[in-house]
Amino acid sequence: MNALISILLFVAVLSVLGAVIWAANRLFNLAAGKMGTTLHCMMCGSDVKIRSVTRGNTGIELILWLCFLVPGLIYSVWRVSTRYKACSNCGAVNLVPLESPAAVAHRKSLGIPNIAP
Ligand SMILES: [Zn+2]
Repeated sequence: MNALISILLFVAVLSVLGAVIWAANRLFNLAAGKMGTTLHCMMCGSDVKIRSVTRGNTGIELILWLCFLVPGLIYSVWRVSTRYKACSNCGAVNLVPLESPAAVAHRKSLGIPNIAP
C-alpha cells in the first residue's frame, strides 16, 4: 500500500513539474513573438518581426507528460531545443538584417524602395 502511494506521489510530482515546464514554454513563445526584432525576409521580401516557431504539437506534449513522464520530458526537451526564428509573414527562415547588402539588393531586385540611411 505504501509503495502504491509512493508511486502515485511520484507521478503527481512529475506531472506538476511537466505542467510547469509546459506553461513556461508557452509563456516564452508568447513573449518571443511579441518582442521579435525586425529583419528582412529573403523569401517574401517583407521587413517583418521574427517569430519563434516550436516544432511538434502541444497536445501530444501534454498527453505524453500526463501518461508517460519520461517520453514527455524527452519530447519537451526536443521541442525547446529545435525552436527556430522565422518570418511572421511566410514562415521562411532565411532572414537578414534590414540594412545588410543582401537585403538592399533583394529589395532593389523586387522593386521595393530601400530605407533611407
Ligand atoms: Zn517572409
